[in-house]
Amino acid sequence: MKIYNTLTRRKDEFVPLEPGKVKMYVCGPTVYNLIHIGNARPMIVFDTVRRYFEYKGYEVNYVSNFTDVDDKIIKKAIEEGVDADTVSKRYIAECKKDMAAMNVKPATTHPLATEEICGMLEMIETLIEKGYAYRAEDGTVYYRVKKFKDYGKLSHKNLDDLQSGFREIKVTGEEGKEDPADFVLWKPKKEGEPYWESPWCQGRPGWHIECSVMSKKYLGDQIDIHAGGEDLIFPHHENEIAQSEAANGKPFANYWMHNAFLNIDNKKMSKSLGNFFTVREIGEKYDLQVLRFFMLSAHYRSPLNFSAELMEASKNGLERIRNCVSRLDDFLKTAKAGEMTGEEKDSLKEAKGLVEKFEAAMDDDFNTADAISAIFELVKLANSTAGESTAAYVTEIRDIIVKLCDVLGIITETKEEMLDADIEEMIARRQQARKDKNFALADQIRGELLEKGIILEDTREGVKWKRA
Ligand code: AMP
Ligand code: ZN
Repeated sequence: MKIYNTLTRRKDEFVPLEPGKVKMYVCGPTVYNLIHIGNARPMIVFDTVRRYFEYKGYEVNYVSNFTDVDDKIIKKAIEEGVDADTVSKRYIAECKKDMAAMNVKPATTHPLATEEICGMLEMIETLIEKGYAYRAEDGTVYYRVKKFKDYGKLSHKNLDDLQSGFREIKVTGEEGKEDPADFVLWKPKKEGEPYWESPWCQGRPGWHIECSVMSKKYLGDQIDIHAGGEDLIFPHHENEIAQSEAANGKPFANYWMHNAFLNIDNKKMSKSLGNFFTVREIGEKYDLQVLRFFMLSAHYRSPLNFSAELMEASKNGLERIRNCVSRLDDFLKTAKAGEMTGEEKDSLKEAKGLVEKFEAAMDDDFNTADAISAIFELVKLANSTAGESTAAYVTEIRDIIVKLCDVLGIITETKEEMLDADIEEMIARRQQARKDKNFALADQIRGELLEKGIILEDTREGVKWKRA
């Protein structure tokens, strides 16, 4: 299996740190708003990477954080007259709903920055002890970039160039820096902002430290894959490497994967240009499986342009697959019993060849575009061969298509089953309604679930559910 590694700038053969296991960390969103379809790209892409590893038999420990303390969250909280926690909790819940709707599996762990402050204090302390960080007079702690000899190895930037670039930019409030390239690990609180106690000042962490700390806590000092959008290469991931490798004394991640950007009408997505869609908005127009299919129709390292035409094309493509599966289901009802015919065996051999084609595409740096082509060829084969066939043949070819689609997170059933995460979320809302003594709402939610075939049971251990 080959993965394009930003660190080495080539496709490297994947060798896990521990046989049969993959430890991967994906930088998650800052939660101050509903996620937009640009944020959805890394979610879908790296969820697919995870699913493919699982298909290959690896056990994947997948960690993805929520950045829940940040200037934008604080600004939004002030605007709304609530505290920052209320804003971040709300958008984490909304983000999880969007993820479920896009069939993105929940991470093994979704740590929150605000719950990991202790670990951040420890790592900053270690960096100070080792001479990689220093406290300025105002209490800010900076990372001493010059001390870390490998700085720039991920973004392939030269420290001298970086320093002369930085020197021209004078930032007020950062007078305590020894060097313009140094970056913040901890900063003093400002009026009205959330803050934590620390040995240096009451304050809050800089952005980069959280990922180094969460990755260490949930995956260990060394991990296999670290991933995110390409805008994170510099400075975020470069700084994470500087922090983690200086603190732990070991190489941090072996493979660095970055997805290219999603544009709209060939322009960068931006709120000011008005060419900006949330996942929620797209979900009102399309089944979000169409969005997922669209995202995977291009290689993750190619820029992708979002347009109504391409979404229509994805919708048609997805329908072609779904129609095929539903026809196969129909055929099964009348299919013949008994052994496969010689012709069917030949077709199945051809189908297995297409599975190999799918795997070869995915093994080549997760080329989902070619993997989808292999699925379309399978669909064509099934459509032309599965008429009056044996049940054995129809079942096999159907299972192959469904399984490969599942690797891409594509649900082939037209009648969508409710996802576990959605059910849990509705149960949590019902519990809250009961706590609030809003029994009408609680009953309404129970009714909605029942309509979707989910039966609730209130037991002494809590609420249990089952599918009807
Ligand atoms: P943020 O909330 O800005 O930290 O972004 C969360 C994730 O979404 C990061 O991995 C970003 O690189 C990624 N991201 C943001 N905008 C886009 C975009 N237009 N296309 C692809 N990825 C994006
Ligand atoms: Zn990060």
